[in-house]
Amino acid sequence: MVVRRSPFAIAMPAPNLLPPEKVPAPRGNFAVGVLALQGSFWEHEVMLRKIGVAVREVRRPADLDGLAGLIIPGGESTTIGKLAVDFGLLEPLRTFGRTHAIWGTCAGAIFLSKDARREQPLLGLMEITVERNAFGRQVASFEVDIPVPALKTVAPDDERPFHAVFIRAPLIETVTPPAEVLARLEDGRIVAARQGHLLATAFHPELTADTRFHRYFLHLAGWGTDR
Ligand code: GLN
Repeated sequence: MVVRRSPFAIAMPAPNLLPPEKVPAPRGNFAVGVLALQGSFWEHEVMLRKIGVAVREVRRPADLDGLAGLIIPGGESTTIGKLAVDFGLLEPLRTFGRTHAIWGTCAGAIFLSKDARREQPLLGLMEITVERNAFGRQVASFEVDIPVPALKTVAPDDERPFHAVFIRAPLIETVTPPAEVLARLEDGRIVAARQGHLLATAFHPELTADTRFHRYFLHLAGWGTDR
């Protein structure tokens, strides 16, 4: 059974929904996927539709065909990993990620990493190691504004910091080249990283109304360069 709404939807405000007449029509053949096994995939879909990008839910290897990129949502990384194994997705996702953009948010970032210091299925695509639940329990979830200079790529005139929502979040402990740090908390701890077309954030941009991170991911996926 597929649950359409993520558990976060209960606790968090829903992302701003545009009225249907204001949602831009998808452009060209460009489409991205959202891994829809568990977690906040619906919220990512809403953001992508708001930007005007065609989006497909991915549950089977064939669902990856023709996609320019994939978002792996937050949720529970052990569950997402186990379901990916059950659905025969582990190797297809690794193959996809070698040549296509993938963005992991929170549990998705853990799934992208090469080490989470626990026995659980990981894609191992990014040269990052993570510490799960680094900020403590669910009640220790928090929100904070952080500077993310890389977002200037897609929003050159926007000086705002990014409002980052952390829900039982991991920390990115180590970032090894070719991976690079994209954002840190004020105390220096790493919360976002990039490795070529791969992106990892410990927080949840899909739970805000700010589309800059989604547009940054779409830029990594080639959005706009073909037109
Ligand atoms: N605590 C979860 C994990 O370790 C991640 C939480 C989230 O995705 N918001 O998988």
